[in-house]
Amino acid sequence: NTNVIVIGGGLAGTEATWQIAQAGVPVTLYEMRPVKNSPAHHSSELAELVCSNSFGADAVDRAAGLLHEELRRLNSIIIQTADEHKVPAGGALAVDRGVFSSNLTQTLANHPLITLERSEIKEIPGDSIVVLATGPLTSDSLAQQLQDLTGMDYLNFFDAASPIIVGESINRDIAFLASRYDKGEAAYLNCPMDKEQYLHFWQELCNAEQAELKDFERESANFFEGCLPIEELAQRGEDTMRYGPLKPIGLFDSRLGDFKAPENKDKRPYAVVQLRQEDKAGQLWNMVGFQTNLRWGEQKRVFRLIPGLENAEFVRMGVMHKNTFLNAPQLLKPTLQFKYRDTLLAAGQLIGTEGYTAAAAGGWLAGTNAARIALNQCPITLPNVTMMGALMDFISTADAKHFQPMPPNFGILPNLPQKIRNKRERYQAYAHRSLDAIAQHNFVNADRVFYGKSLMI
Ligand code: FAD
Repeated sequence: NTNVIVIGGGLAGTEATWQIAQAGVPVTLYEMRPVKNSPAHHSSELAELVCSNSFGADAVDRAAGLLHEELRRLNSIIIQTADEHKVPAGGALAVDRGVFSSNLTQTLANHPLITLERSEIKEIPGDSIVVLATGPLTSDSLAQQLQDLTGMDYLNFFDAASPIIVGESINRDIAFLASRYDKGEAAYLNCPMDKEQYLHFWQELCNAEQAELKDFERESANFFEGCLPIEELAQRGEDTMRYGPLKPIGLFDSRLGDFKAPENKDKRPYAVVQLRQEDKAGQLWNMVGFQTNLRWGEQKRVFRLIPGLENAEFVRMGVMHKNTFLNAPQLLKPTLQFKYRDTLLAAGQLIGTEGYTAAAAGGWLAGTNAARIALNQCPITLPNVTMMGALMDFISTADAKHFQPMPPNFGILPNLPQKIRNKRERYQAYAHRSLDAIAQHNFVNADRVFYGKSLMI
């Protein structure tokens, strides 16, 4: 079956469509705008940047920048067009958004193998190879069908996520590894507070500045009732957090002695912030119960008051916003094919990656694989030492129960063989390792023979 369809002409869908056509496979791209508009988009152009005009830092020793460079080497149309229309923005890759999107719309519309249809798809076609790339604001009818197909637990409409912190930025002299009442394996990193530290933190949290919700997000705020922002919990009273996520009971630093001993009574913490391991390797930690609407700068300022988190490096800030995304660990293979249907693929924010560049990366992989399926070739993944490979590996293997969207970051890459203390040098080593891996494989050659027999390279 060589009938290939891409649904959604955002960043992921535009990239996917281009990669399919460049592989010599005819493709139809369905974009609902301007026939039907999303609450965040303003134009009818493909690949519209809904908010900022920046793709993030461009140097390869920054996570976003490394992903840019990987995509450049993989002939990404999104990054090539961004490079052509970039505007001065310090070290970031920022673009003239109008020219960027209209240029991409023209490029795709003029490709002889691409048909651009302006209509909303309400049902996923069953008889074609399909790439789903309808983004965080997937139209209601399609979201409903996705929910019916996958089951409620596998589709989220809202993202109420706590911040994620790089493990090595946590001060282990203060934070201790333990589970409540020492039950089971010590699974949490715990940041203890004495009364003075707690009260200071509580006051700062109550007074911290919140981000403004968009109109369509305010309407849906009642979806969060079961999941209150930490600042709202704080505002309910001095001790509310201590009876909720900051409950100290049963948590004690065994380095201080036996917590049951009466002489150690005073050493028991007054409140404890718990961090749960986010990735298999334990390089990323999630602040339990810290979903929040605070402004990002405020989150950094206030959460760094927590003992042990003075120098916390955040890979993702807490958010509470409308964001339709699939439970990728349950539903997707690392090739971005659905486990239950090989000819259905997904990309972009819908699969739980976060940000413009990550959407383009997913689009590249889903598009490449959709074309390969049409050509009777084996789908591929990228090595997990690349930012792109690591991101797709993460979303397809993360803990499904606590799955939250993930932006590109160095914490998801496998450790280097050698320890490098200097952060900049370490990130440069990650970048070299990734770009070497891409250079070793010819991912973009004309006849698209990437590797021998196996799925993983
Ligand atoms: P999108 O770019 O949203 O593309 C999805 C496309 O699918 C849209 O064009 C939509 O019209 C179309 N569509 C939806 N349903 C259907 C259907 N049934 N049939 C046909 N077409 C359909 N990320 C950043 O990196 N920086 C930011 O500043 C930023 N700000 C954001 C602000 C808001 C309000 C939101 C909601 C998200 C923001 N994001 C930002 C995240 C951003 O959405 C993604 O980074 C990126 O746009 C995701 O790309 P995508 O291709 O998955 O989705």
